[in-house]
Amino acid sequence: MLQSICQNPQLVETVLHTVDSLVIVLDKDGIVRAMNAAAVAFTHYDPEEVVGRYHWSDFVPAKEQDKVERLFKSLLKKRTVQNVEHHWLTKEGNPLLVKWHNTVITDEHDEIEYVIATGVNITDQARLAEELKISSKVVETGDPVLITDAALRIIKVNEAFTRVTGYSEADVLGQTPRILSSGAHDQTFYENMWQSLQTSGCWAGEITNRHKSGHYFTEYMRISTLHDNEGQVTHYVSSFIDISAAKANEQKLRFLARFDSQTGIANRDYFTRKLDQTIQSHQQNRQKGLLFYLRLGFLEKMEAHYGNAFVDTVILKVLHDVEHTLAGYQYFLGRITGSGFGICILNVPRTAGLKTATQIARSVVELTRHYPLAIDEEDEFFNLYPEIGICTFPDAYDASSLDAEAMLHHALIASQKSRDKKECYEFYSSALQRAVDESHKLEVALNHAIQKLDEFELHHQPQFDACGRVTGGEALIRWKHNGKLVSPGLFIPLAEKTDDIITINRWVFKQAVAQLHALDEGGLLTQYRSLSVNFSPKCIMAADLVTFLQNEIERTPWVAQRIKLEVTESSFIHDIDAFKQRLAEIKTLGFKVSIDDFGTGYSSLSYLTELEFDEIKIDQSFVSKLNQRCEKSCRVIKSIISIAKALNVNVVAEGVETAIQLEVLKELQCAHFQGFLFSKPLPVNELTTLLARNPPSTLVPASAA
Ligand code: C2E
Ligand code: MG
Ligand code: MG
Repeated sequence: MLQSICQNPQLVETVLHTVDSLVIVLDKDGIVRAMNAAAVAFTHYDPEEVVGRYHWSDFVPAKEQDKVERLFKSLLKKRTVQNVEHHWLTKEGNPLLVKWHNTVITDEHDEIEYVIATGVNITDQARLAEELKISSKVVETGDPVLITDAALRIIKVNEAFTRVTGYSEADVLGQTPRILSSGAHDQTFYENMWQSLQTSGCWAGEITNRHKSGHYFTEYMRISTLHDNEGQVTHYVSSFIDISAAKANEQKLRFLARFDSQTGIANRDYFTRKLDQTIQSHQQNRQKGLLFYLRLGFLEKMEAHYGNAFVDTVILKVLHDVEHTLAGYQYFLGRITGSGFGICILNVPRTAGLKTATQIARSVVELTRHYPLAIDEEDEFFNLYPEIGICTFPDAYDASSLDAEAMLHHALIASQKSRDKKECYEFYSSALQRAVDESHKLEVALNHAIQKLDEFELHHQPQFDACGRVTGGEALIRWKHNGKLVSPGLFIPLAEKTDDIITINRWVFKQAVAQLHALDEGGLLTQYRSLSVNFSPKCIMAADLVTFLQNEIERTPWVAQRIKLEVTESSFIHDIDAFKQRLAEIKTLGFKVSIDDFGTGYSSLSYLTELEFDEIKIDQSFVSKLNQRCEKSCRVIKSIISIAKALNVNVVAEGVETAIQLEVLKELQCAHFQGFLFSKPLPVNELTTLLARNPPSTLVPASAA
């Protein structure tokens, strides 16, 4: 039957033109010899336009021509059936993806005569497959995805899209993405987006869209272009993440980058940046500015007791009040450390810099030295211990220092120096800087000296009774550095900043014990009945002090009876109970305790009665005023002496330099004296000579005789 059909060319032609498949007959050179009606219908060519033209060079897209020619030649060689896929161009130039089934027809000599290519148009099928592929990807991802065709009609969205935008797939299919438009972006924004899509095939950025319910949300969107094999855009796939929350976070981060999270006050970074800009603009415009570094020492103590949150509310309140004192000035402020604040005053009249700075500093000190706070529901006034360092800018000092960090450092140095001043504020100056540098050098040298302990000496300043007899003395350390004696007034405060003071103190103590032994062996202890050793607060409260003292007197317990521990009020002002306990321990070991520099601190009667001191040393500042018979000082000394008598404790007047002072002190019934009028502090050998040369009854100061 099939054979009879095949022998009927008329019938064959009818069959060929009836089938849906494309049929193209090529000769062995690849030249089109015939095509069926389906091929005509798909390609829109008339057969006359096609017949006689090369199959792959004229009807196959350029990109695929090589491949198709190779396949064709391979078919001729192998003479098998071949299944391939490639595009065929319609008359209008549109590529149709066709699945070809190629077979060869041979003549009676087995020579290849024709190649019959039967094709099925799978363009739609392929697109569908691609879309399916995309769709499956879309569904896979948790982020919202929207896909449009090349004409920007939405063909697919996923569930996440619906969740974020409020639009269901049915709402948007066939629409353009404009449905989401918020109107927040201008024409240029979209032009740039298209430009980027055309040149690089993708675009990414932030975009604000509108939810179905009307509210706006910000997304980070990425749009990619999908192309077909010919490079034609087929789809736009846009995926995005809702960054509205992240945007809010970013705003928060931006805030945190500039402001202290707890108080909302500008932080160090932001303050420094602003200060840098201010310095520059003031320099350019020849204006003057002021920088204050305000430290409130009490805040640190408060933090330990009441916690950060409480301190933060205090800070807000204090700064609010500080801002009141700055009314009328242009300023900004910031929190530099937990308890340190920067205040920058702008555009100060050139001639009024110092005056303005002083006024501001005074009002801030006045405010913070006596500050009302409700603690434990009780309204009280507190000294917040202000320390203020001031810098003016731009100023006499060199331009290199004109950056905010350096300037803040200068102000900080000045604030540290202000601690020693009752005004509580200090201006930065090059002299101050030199002093700081010197002090730093000294600190380094002291550190070395403390390692070796071979540059220290112990001097003794004898103390006398009213008849001029030596009764004892005070041990005073000397540091011989580079051949010069450095005053303890200089290095003891440095050592007190660290535990070095304990090392020094223990060295002094050991020396004092050793020298008492030596004096005892020389029979000189009958006159030199006691030796006072200075104990800084850290030393007196050191946890292992009692053990240390016990060890030192273990072999010769009598030494304890001869040593007085000199302490200052700062040792017990903060924790009187702990000190009371320590005092009892020391006294149990047999030592006496003397209160040094009495009258300079808080000098409260209550602690004198509560703490059992053995001696009061009247500070030299009162004694020095006796030259003019200063009425007030006389009265103070008189009352100290009568209190001492009432409490049955010894009194020593320190810093007695003149006969008048001595005379007045005697009139006031002072029993013991220490000062240059009698003797300077002496090395131990000179003390020995003095004691040996002068029997107790004859040792009377020359000028007092
Ligand atoms: P301080 O304990 O009040 O010692 C008395 C200071 O007054 C000594 O100064 C002494 O030399 C000085 N002085 C004595 N008589 C007169 C006088 O008539 N006129 C004047 N203007 N000054 C007089 P120095 O030795 O320079 O000691 C200063 C401070 O250093 C001492 O004051 C004491 O606080 C501290 N210090 C000295 N040695 C030690 C020590 O070994 N340990 C500790 N922790 N501190 C010490
Ligand atoms: Mg002393
Ligand atoms: Mg003293």
